[in-house]
Amino acid sequence: MNTTSKINIHWFRQDLRVLDNPSLEKASSTGKVLPLYIFDTVNSSDFKIGGASKVWLHHALSSLNLALQKKLCILSGDPCEIIPSLAKKIGACGVYWNRNYEPCSIERDKKIKINLQSLDIKVESFNGSLLWEPWNVLKDDGTPYRVFTPFYKRGCLSANKPRVPNLKPISLELYNQKSLSNTLESLSLFTNREWEKKIVSQRTISEKSAHKKLDDFISNGVEDYKNGRNFPFKKNTSKLSADLHWGTISPNTLWYASLNKRESIDDEKCISDIDCFLSELGWREFSYSLLYNFPKLPLVNLQKKFDKFPWKKNKGFLDRWKKGITGYPIVDAGMRELWKTGYMHNRLRMIVGSFLVKNLLIHWHEGEKWFWDCLIDADLANNSASWQWVAGSGADAAPYFRIFNPVTQGLRFDPEGKYTKKYVPELSLMPNKYLFNPWEAPQSILEESKVVLGKNYPQPIVNLKLSRSNALDAFSTIKTN
Ligand code: FAD
Repeated sequence: MNTTSKINIHWFRQDLRVLDNPSLEKASSTGKVLPLYIFDTVNSSDFKIGGASKVWLHHALSSLNLALQKKLCILSGDPCEIIPSLAKKIGACGVYWNRNYEPCSIERDKKIKINLQSLDIKVESFNGSLLWEPWNVLKDDGTPYRVFTPFYKRGCLSANKPRVPNLKPISLELYNQKSLSNTLESLSLFTNREWEKKIVSQRTISEKSAHKKLDDFISNGVEDYKNGRNFPFKKNTSKLSADLHWGTISPNTLWYASLNKRESIDDEKCISDIDCFLSELGWREFSYSLLYNFPKLPLVNLQKKFDKFPWKKNKGFLDRWKKGITGYPIVDAGMRELWKTGYMHNRLRMIVGSFLVKNLLIHWHEGEKWFWDCLIDADLANNSASWQWVAGSGADAAPYFRIFNPVTQGLRFDPEGKYTKKYVPELSLMPNKYLFNPWEAPQSILEESKVVLGKNYPQPIVNLKLSRSNALDAFSTIKTN
């Protein structure tokens, strides 16, 4: 326990946890800590916090507050004004935080740092969200990587090992700030609407539950990850993306838990499953590196030739995609999973993304925006890098001409139809042979399955062959640029 009368502020941002929190640890090592969260209403980019993220944030803050004996100071407004004035008011000696990498956060934090230094208040930031800092992973010539494999293998794996997490509880003497804080409810992040309640009812949101998810995944999910991660009905993925985004668990904790398991086994297959999982964490690092080095990633095609791509505006198609009524069952299942749960399995994200930008020729920005609002794990780096990957306009992206076929994708990755039937119950009686292409089912099968196309399940909104060839024609117009 700290006996000095010094007070430090730890500013929580995307590190809503107590364990393995380098900044909180530092703040607590030299004084009492005022734990602070500010809902920033001023310094946001074009991407203001989305609906599902608000719900998640509310519950993560609520559980963090409990873990901090209800002493979390919750404020809203402009951190550039709030932090210096709060620091002066309580006579804080230091202000500490873990770094964020969104361009507008970087700008904001620089301003706050300068301001605090001019007031003679110690200020320090830490790496609490990434395994490797983006400015440390560069090619020999000092430029950023644009291709994943060399980024990960040459840039990350051969660099210094990631920081080992500190999972021992730290001794925290908390400053009693009751008179300073607003209530969590005053932020109006969670307003008890049906949609919000549905999202919450399907998960527990807390640091403790993130650790439990990780333990379950390491014990039961990571084995067969490499193959199983492609099948939406299997339980081979960690579902830790929102926790990683908001920092209810650190990537270092995932990294070393995986390595420990890797060291404890000698089954070659399971070792390669673990390596595959580690490389997915590597994709997260790659997205952050792209965002850091190309701050316009959420808005601008990384491959300039895509600036001339003949995207189509079609509000009707876009609305049907969002609502999951395209007439392509696997696409509709994915979009409905997103709406109902605030999450979508990675395989489905690729399928629905390809359908939007290729079969419907709608700009990837539209998909990016919709995901941003609906995903509990909406993350500026991962979302924009992934949409650019799907569209073919990004770094190391899927080639544009690789167009997912929603029928064969369904047959391959949801062979028993369990996932599709869960989210598209209108087709629950449809035999698997026609589940992903009901328009090709004989009339007798449609009748037996109680499906009337155009009535209780839509006809496909585009023809697959034609839309595929239109997409390739559209691509050929920019190919040589
Ligand atoms: P796991 O398979 O358990 O992977 C573990 C962690 O690795 C994930 O939690 C995530 O942090 C990271 N990861 C896994 N796959 C990727 C990937 N392809 N790119 C970057 N990081 C990855 N992920 C987000 O966190 N936020 C987003 O907003 C987001 N938007 C996406 C949009 C599209 C169009 C696509 C195709 C993918 C998107 N992803 C996004 C990446 C990926 O789909 C999710 O991270 C993953 O599905 C989350 O589930 P999980 O935690 O069970 O993943």
